[in-house]
Amino acid sequence: HAKQKGRNNFQFFADQLELMAHHRLQLRNDLRRALTNQEFRLVYQPKIDLATREIRGAEALIRWQPANGDPISPAQFIPSAEENGFIVEIGEWVIDEVGRQLAEWREQGRGCPVALNISTKHFQLGDLVGSIKQMIERYNIEPDLIEIEVTESAFIEDMPKTALALTTLRAMGVLCSIDDFGTGFSSLSYLLTLPIDILKIDKIFVDNATQSAKQQALLKTIVELAHALDIRVVAEGIEDEATGTLLHQLHCDMAQGFYFSRPLPPETFHTLLLSGGSLPHES
Ligand code: C2E
Ligand code: MG
Ligand code: MG
Ligand code: MG
Repeated sequence: HAKQKGRNNFQFFADQLELMAHHRLQLRNDLRRALTNQEFRLVYQPKIDLATREIRGAEALIRWQPANGDPISPAQFIPSAEENGFIVEIGEWVIDEVGRQLAEWREQGRGCPVALNISTKHFQLGDLVGSIKQMIERYNIEPDLIEIEVTESAFIEDMPKTALALTTLRAMGVLCSIDDFGTGFSSLSYLLTLPIDILKIDKIFVDNATQSAKQQALLKTIVELAHALDIRVVAEGIEDEATGTLLHQLHCDMAQGFYFSRPLPPETFHTLLLSGGSLPHES
């Protein structure tokens, strides 16, 4: 009887695994079709200089709008794309699209630095340096207009490969920033060995910071550490003036957040950039 029950359990899990494999394959096909049908687009969230409240750059964020269906958020499909490897194709599309956009803005008079998110998996499975080099040449882009955002997980999963890619990119003039800083369970030693230009403090350290002396101490220490290493600091997820003011008082350099602006379609972002940017100021 116990044996029979064990077999049933095994069958149950085998069926589940098959179902999951099926879903993975299905999603990979959906993502490939989405790429072919041009269902992906990028939106741009302004990065604000906290001292002047001027736009200093933007982060490109991917959006998937299926032809007939509801929009799907990156939090839903990026992790799956990382699992099935399609993240490399997505990353290559993002890299090329940012190059195309920067060239278009240049034609229209003025662009600004753009940060793009690169998955940890891209370092392992793809040729990141090759793709960025190709984009820079194809659209004749100034390398220092490109900033790649990577998470600390890249250093845990494959340090030698990541280090080589980042060092090569840095030598080309591309900037490197650490996304979601402080959430990755990694050692800080990479700050000494890797060419890091920017730390992005994760929203979890920013939320409710005005109410917490401990959080403020942590934020202050992160900013001081970064500055001592000649690294600039961006705070993520600022949702109100009080938090923006606080981060400025703590000498944080830049900020992003719904308070300043949501991610915008490229035309809207560019209009805002050219207008000199009327983003909220301390009153
Ligand atoms: P991330 O790179 O840390 O991006 C910041 C996320 O926080 C974005 O969500 C942004 O819309 C959101 N955000 C910005 N300000 C605020 C705020 O004030 N409040 C709140 N609640 N949220 C704010 P989004 O666009 O949904 O992207 C989620 C994550 O998906 C990104 O986190 C990134 O890890 C990933 N992702 C987005 N686009 C790409 C991409 O092109 N490639 C890769 N590999 N990953 C991407
Ligand atoms: Mg990011
Ligand atoms: Mg982040
Ligand atoms: Mg994040």
